[in-house]
Amino acid sequence: MSGPRSAIVIGGGLIGCATAWYLSKREWSVTVVERDKLGGGASHGNCGYVCPSHTMPLSGPGVVRSTLPTLFKRDAALAIPIRFDPALWKWLWKFSRECSRERMMRAAVARHALLASSMKLYRELIADEEFDCDWRDAGLLLVYKSAREFESYDKTAELLSREFSIDATRYAGAELNELEPTLRDGLAGGWHFPGDAHVRPDMLIGGLRRGLTTRGVELLEEVEVTSLRVEAGRLAAVETKEGPLSADLVVLATGAEAPRFAKPLQCRIPIQPGKGYSLTMRPLSAPPRIPMIFEEHHVAVTPLSSAFRVGSTMEFTGYDRTLKRRRLDLLRRSAAEHLKEPLPEQVDEEWCGWRPMTFDGLPCVGRAPGAANVFVAAGNGMIGLATAPATGKLVAELASDEEPHVDPQPYSLHRF
Ligand SMILES: Cc1cc2nc3c(=O)[nH]c(=O)nc-3n(C[C@H](O)[C@H](O)[C@H](O)COP(=O)(O)OP(=O)(O)OC[C@H]3O[C@@H](n4cnc5c(N)ncnc54)[C@H](O)[C@@H]3O)c2cc1C
Repeated sequence: MSGPRSAIVIGGGLIGCATAWYLSKREWSVTVVERDKLGGGASHGNCGYVCPSHTMPLSGPGVVRSTLPTLFKRDAALAIPIRFDPALWKWLWKFSRECSRERMMRAAVARHALLASSMKLYRELIADEEFDCDWRDAGLLLVYKSAREFESYDKTAELLSREFSIDATRYAGAELNELEPTLRDGLAGGWHFPGDAHVRPDMLIGGLRRGLTTRGVELLEEVEVTSLRVEAGRLAAVETKEGPLSADLVVLATGAEAPRFAKPLQCRIPIQPGKGYSLTMRPLSAPPRIPMIFEEHHVAVTPLSSAFRVGSTMEFTGYDRTLKRRRLDLLRRSAAEHLKEPLPEQVDEEWCGWRPMTFDGLPCVGRAPGAANVFVAAGNGMIGLATAPATGKLVAELASDEEPHVDPQPYSLHRF
């Protein structure tokens, strides 16, 4: 073969950047095409958790029954406004079918493979490439207000320990305040996962940007891909607003927007945008040491060296970028109910992003049925940061005809 093989990665989020990284390590000549700036999508303002503790998918026995009543609450973290959207209703129906114990465990095994591998790969990246991304090994603390919810987590903690060797420590009542004195008194308890870590996502993207540039990866920012031209079972051209591009290999890593390109690739990419919000502000005067999720509200806080972030909520409102004040206020209220120190009035950034949600909690990674030289890498849902390195490495291995380091079958597009 003459010269290096060429690859175009569409989408410069964490999944696209990680894929570009592992392709370039395999001597592919890579171009990343990003509509905005690198990391301008969901990869920007997320909570930064690198979290093997998130091995269990959202689906599971009893989830539909317990979630339905919350949908009618005005201020619930999950919002699914009733509107005509057949793709969303089909997605929700399929989600409900994933709620058996057997399917939950199948998804958990596949999620764990990517989460565990990514933790290892992040540690390698940070040590070998000196990526400065505010990495901290403080673990993750799940915090409960109600004794009933706290106790009901015992079973999940036991399952994670038994099946996946993910161990957590239980802190009841006052023990929780001893561990994290920034929490209000009177909370029921918490579970601490010491094996989790966290980063500042935009710094991580910055590190990847520098690494990619050093490796000679071309970054085409503010270039939108408008369509894919497939001829005789292969992708002939990536049409952009700046003209067509072509390469030996194309990777579709456009996150929540991947379904837009499913038709020419002759496959289903059943991803729904799960909109989440975050507020980023200066650090509290006495910030928590450990990132925390306030479980009853599904609100997460992340202490960073030069900032403090509060994030979460999940809205299935389609491709809508409106920042709703009511949803942002929800984050503030939850923080006020759990933390002793009030959040500063001044906020540096109010943000929302679309999590690329699949109904089975697994990403879509694999060769596109309708174009032999195209791979899809999207749908990493709520754990896209935590699974980016393993996802990118897997795509690079499959495209390079190498033995994959994790079993690719559970993520294949053929499951839809
Ligand atoms: C509030 C919130 C908190 C979260 N917290 C965490 C967390 O703590 N840990 C974790 O692991 N995950 C978390 N997530 C999920 C995580 O952010 C996502 O899973 C991850 O960012 C997805 O990465 P991606 O590269 O697939 O998508 P994106 O980051 O959205 O990247 C896709 C890119 O494709 C580009 N694009 C789209 N269409 C085109 C086009 N036509 N042409 C060119 N470019 C295009 C977009 O501009 C975008 O930059 C959170 C998400 C939210 C919303």
